[in-house]
Amino acid sequence: MAEEELLQRKIKKLRAEGKYKETIENCYVLIELGNKLKDYKSLLVAYMNLVASYYCIGDIEAAFNSIESHKEICDKYGDNEEKLLSYNSLFLLYDHTKDIEKAKNILEKSIELGKNLNKYNIVSNGYSNYSHICIIQKEYKQAIEMGILGIQMANLHVPLTPILVLRVKLNIVKAYIGLKNFKESKLLIDEMINDPILDSYIREKAHCYDVQAHWYSKQKLYSKAFESFSNAKVLVESYNDVYLLKDIQMERSKLCESMGDINLAYKIQKEYILLLSEISKSEIELVALKLQIKHSMASMEKKVNTDYLTGIYNRNYMEINTNKLLKLACENNESIICIVFDLDGFKSINDQHGHLFGDEVIKQVSKACSSILRENDIFARFGGDEFVIILEGITLENGEKKAEQIMKTIRNLNILKDGKHIPITVSIGITDNLTCAAKYFNELFNVADLRLYKAKNGGRNQVCAVN
Ligand code: GH3
Ligand code: MG
Repeated sequence: MAEEELLQRKIKKLRAEGKYKETIENCYVLIELGNKLKDYKSLLVAYMNLVASYYCIGDIEAAFNSIESHKEICDKYGDNEEKLLSYNSLFLLYDHTKDIEKAKNILEKSIELGKNLNKYNIVSNGYSNYSHICIIQKEYKQAIEMGILGIQMANLHVPLTPILVLRVKLNIVKAYIGLKNFKESKLLIDEMINDPILDSYIREKAHCYDVQAHWYSKQKLYSKAFESFSNAKVLVESYNDVYLLKDIQMERSKLCESMGDINLAYKIQKEYILLLSEISKSEIELVALKLQIKHSMASMEKKVNTDYLTGIYNRNYMEINTNKLLKLACENNESIICIVFDLDGFKSINDQHGHLFGDEVIKQVSKACSSILRENDIFARFGGDEFVIILEGITLENGEKKAEQIMKTIRNLNILKDGKHIPITVSIGITDNLTCAAKYFNELFNVADLRLYKAKNGGRNQVCAVN
């Protein structure tokens, strides 16, 4: 099996095991590989798994960034099924950030696309989620309408999947309770609680008891409500949804007060406090995990962007960032300067003094140049003995001065071999982009590179700024 396929499998397995840090790290490796191979499937898999993992560890900003990257590739190379996946993830993110309008909007798109693709399970879930959002907005009538559509769509799904219907019904019941229609809601609750399918779906079963408990509570049937919440609690504990458990315990605690049972209230308070400390412990662990991931991403990113020999930027980083700069500079009517330089006669330095000494020269040259450049200038090793500098916000005239300064700095380097001074010179080509002629780095570089070769042909150790 090809390397990228193995990595895709590994990522899916890691995520299924809940190993989010490892999943995220491997996703970035897959992105690098995907970019190298121009394998868009790998990129889509990597970004989708990043979205899900970041979501699970609560790093919502990173999840949004990953979904942006997924969208860019999906729009160009993805199919509709991939698009549907991304809609689903986006909905979860908007739901999480309580961005109701955007959540609705994405659900509408998802429902429409799902219908076109005959994916009625997705369409039914879409309506169910829409119904859930309407309940948050207290638009109970619309919640019921959406729920009914959800049931109709679930019935179109082949093979028939009864749990889809039940999930929708849970929302319809909540909407009926919201409308204070206790008769309809009771009928539905009884129907759901007695549905044998629930035994295979523990989460849904817990939610059924939870909604039943709320119904009893509204009817002031406190001990019945307490019993239903207790049933829900046992189930929720088994799959450890601590936030739902917290809500349930709060309700149980309130019910004890209503029932006037002090001893039980005390016992539940103790359980509740224990749960809160568990939640805060796992939240602290999550923050630590997020920090670890950020740190590991930063060092991975640095490795990906850095030239191994000199520690300055590499060609890949420079190309990507110059493309961005060119776009911005063009919009703002600003110039970008590109300086390309190459060591003169470097082959013979290697030949005479050895490759390791040659490496040392390359390192010293890049160190000296870095010391005279500004923080924002992009200084990169293009490859071999060739370097590129991208400067923004200065005139070509000042760029030329900078190029002269670089030439002199390198010429003045005091590099010794066996006590003997080894002179180093460079040839430089320079260009600017004031007319916005170059949209991409390569176009800008080509002009500067031609001028560099003119400088070489003109006798080396000089700057050339014209064709
Ligand atoms: P010119 O003045 O025309 O540039 O002559 P040159 O000898 O410098 O020729 P050119 O730039 O084409 O050759 C660059 C040489 O740099 C070729 C290669 O052996 C050497 N080189 C490339 N990468 C490295 C490296 O990482 N370390 C060392 N020591 N040498 C390298
Ligand atoms: Mg050279």
